[in-house]
Order: sequence, then structure tokens, then C-alpha cells
Amino acid sequence: MPNPTNIKERLLDLVFPKLCLNCHRLLEEPIDKENLLCGRCFGSIVVNRLIFPEPGFFLGSATLYKIEAARNLIHFLKYEDFPGVKHPIAKIIKAYLRKSAFIDLFRNAKPEIVPVPLYFLKSINRGFNQAEDIAEVLAGETGWPTRNRLLRRIRNTRSQAKLEQKSERLENMAGAFILKSGLEEYVVGKSFIVVDDVYTSGATMSEAIKVLKSGGAKSVAGFVFAKG
Ligand SMILES: [Zn+2]
Repeated sequence: MPNPTNIKERLLDLVFPKLCLNCHRLLEEPIDKENLLCGRCFGSIVVNRLIFPEPGFFLGSATLYKIEAARNLIHFLKYEDFPGVKHPIAKIIKAYLRKSAFIDLFRNAKPEIVPVPLYFLKSINRGFNQAEDIAEVLAGETGWPTRNRLLRRIRNTRSQAKLEQKSERLENMAGAFILKSGLEEYVVGKSFIVVDDVYTSGATMSEAIKVLKSGGAKSVAGFVFAKG
């Protein structure tokens, strides 16, 4: 008769790997099931202090995309649907909000958090949107509300990663988003934070921000987990 505790432990082993998601070294016992990175890899993720001035808006970015462990957390969030990685991501975001003045940008406004939407066919295929995951973490830390259905992606853009030139990326994203029909008046005079997982050329973020601003939003900032 198998011991039920052993069975439970073996099931947990399947769900929570014993190897660091980044360097694949064996994690030290007892395993921190909420971290999934070894201490060294987690410690390698530098937390930013700055708010980055981008053309036309301010960008909050918890860490940098060039850090391998940060890239791997995003990879597991985006392609492997690995819910456990939300915990280390949340820890890094929390540290950024403490160290930077990002929250102070909105001292006089209660902004609404708007994740960059996926094209609907892509979201059906994938079943989730990693930008919504990051938005959920930011909302949890700040108490600001999320508005997941304010923007709509009206066409399936080519993967930005396959386009090298910034001009190609901007062109690829032009006109990709609209305000959801019936919510055109909703944005007028409000403050928003557009959220994505990563920021590289900025084409996606800029396009989403442009739609909210031209719809009459008072102020719009951007927020990502990792900036390129
Ligand atoms: Zn490691």
C-alpha cells in the first residue's frame, strides 16, 4: 500500500521542479516553491531605481531584459504557462515600486491599469495573456484597478522579435489597437498605465499609449517587468 504522503510529494515534484529555472542547478532543500530560482540567479536580477523617459511618456521597468534570469522568468511566463514564476516576478516588481518613484507619478490620480491585449485568435490559442499577469501583480501591489478589456487588438501583427529595424516595428504596430466600442467616452480625462511583459523597441507600448491619449486620456504611463 503506497504511503499517501509520498504520493503527494511525488505529485508536487512534478508540479514544482527541483532545478533552478535559470541555471538548472539543483535547488537547495527545503525548496522555496514560490521562487523557482536558486539564490544566485534570483540575486542576479538587478532591480531598477529609475523611471525611464521615453518619447511621449514615462516608463516604469522593474528590471532589465539583458539579465538572463529575468529573460528566463518571462520565457516561462509567456511560453510555458508556468504559474509559479509569478512569485519571483512579483518580488522584483514589489522591490522596484519600493526603490523607484513610480507610484509618486500618480500622487494626484488613481490610474487604471491596462494590459496590452493579444489578438483574440492568439489569446484563444495561448489561453492567457502574460501582460495581464504583470498587470495583476502591479494592481495587487498598488491597489489600482485593472481594465483588461479597454483596448482591442484589431489585427494580428507579425512577431516584433522577427523585425529588426525600429521603423519596421513601428509600421507593424501602426493601427493595431482601438478603444473598445462603447468605451470611447470612458477614457476622457482619466489616467492610465499601459502594462506589458517586456519593452524592446517600444513600438507596441507607444502605439497603445497613443490610442489612449488621442482618445482624451489625461495622462498615460507605461510599465513593464523588463526593459531592453
Ligand atoms: Zn540558478
